[in-house]
Amino acid sequence: MRLDNRGHVCALQLEGAQLEVDFAVDASGLARMGLGSAFRPGWRTFGSVLPTDRAITFDLQPTGSSLRTLTRSTAMTAGWIWEIPLNRATRAGYVFSSRHADDAMMMAEVQHRFGYHVQPRHELSFDQGYFETAWVNNVVALGTASGFVEPLGAALAAHTFEQLRNLERILASGGGIVPAHAIEAFSSANVRSWTGVRDYLRLHYDGGRNDTPFWRELTSAELPKSYAQLRACFQKRTPRHIDIEPYVGSGWQSLFRQIDWLSVAAAARGPSRPCT
Ligand SMILES: Cc1cc2nc3c(=O)[nH]c(=O)nc-3n(C[C@H](O)[C@H](O)[C@H](O)COP(=O)(O)OP(=O)(O)OC[C@H]3O[C@@H](n4cnc5c(N)ncnc54)[C@H](O)[C@@H]3O)c2cc1C
Repeated sequence: MRLDNRGHVCALQLEGAQLEVDFAVDASGLARMGLGSAFRPGWRTFGSVLPTDRAITFDLQPTGSSLRTLTRSTAMTAGWIWEIPLNRATRAGYVFSSRHADDAMMMAEVQHRFGYHVQPRHELSFDQGYFETAWVNNVVALGTASGFVEPLGAALAAHTFEQLRNLERILASGGGIVPAHAIEAFSSANVRSWTGVRDYLRLHYDGGRNDTPFWRELTSAELPKSYAQLRACFQKRTPRHIDIEPYVGSGWQSLFRQIDWLSVAAAARGPSRPCT
C-alpha cells in the first residue's frame, strides 16, 4: 500500500504491478495488510473479558439423524465446542483458553466426549478485540481485518455485514464524497457495536458453571461496567430494547435482537449487583 503526502492510499502493490486507487477496502482477514499495517491503529483487546484465545478444528462422524440440522455449542472444561452438522460430516471445533489447557488436553477431552479417535484439522491462536479506528482517510477495514471474536453466535459475520451495510450507505448517500465527520461517526459506531458483541458473548459464560479453574476464574473476573450493569438488570427483569440501544448509533442496527439477548440471558446467573 503506497501513501501520498496527505497519508491517503494512492496505490496498491500487487504481484508485479501497482494499481492506482482512490479508495481501499481492507478485507485481508487476519493478515491485516491494509489498515493494520499502514496506519497501525490502537488495538483494544477483549482478553480480560472473553477468556478464549485458541481453537482446534476437527471433523466428527455424521450422526445419521436428519433432524440434527442446528449448530450446537457445548460448554467444556476450558472453553466450548461447536458442532455443525453437514451432509457427510459434522464440522466441529474446540475454542479454549491456553492459560488453562493445551492442545493435547483438549483433544483428549474431545475423544473422551465422542468416544472415538478425532484428528485435528487446524489450530489457531487469536487475540479477541478490534482496531479502535476502522476507517482512516481513504482506507476502511472490514471483517477480520478490523477485529476478531470467537465464533460464538456468528457475531463476527453479523458485525461484518453491518460494517458493509453502513459503508455502502455512507458512500452512496454522500455521492462518493465523504466528510471527515461521517468517517468519525462510522468509526465510533463501529466501536459501540464491538462493545455490544463483547457483552453479548460474555453473557454466554454466565451460566453458573464453576467446576473447573477456567469457569471459576470467569466467575470471579472483574467485568466491564456496561456488562455488569446490564447483567444486574437482567437479574431483575427480561432484556428490553432500551438495554440494547446504547450499542448502536449513527444509523447502525443492533446485531442481536431482544430475543437473542433473552435466550442467552435466560440461562445466565451471577452475583446480584445493583441495577442503576
Ligand atoms: C476457527 C474459526 C471458526 C469460525 N466459525 C465461524 C462461524 O461458524 N460463523 C461465522 O459467522 N464466523 C465464523 N468464523 C469467523 C469467520 O472467519 C469470519 O466470519 C469470516 O470468515 C471473516 O471474513 P473476512 O472476509 O473478514 O476474512 P477471511 O474470511 O479470513 O478472508 C480474508 C481473505 O483475504 C485473503 N488474503 C489475505 N492476505 C492476502 C494477500 N496477501 N493476497 C491476497 N489475498 C489475501 C485470504 O486468503 C482470505 O481469502 C470463524 C473463524 C474461525 C477462525
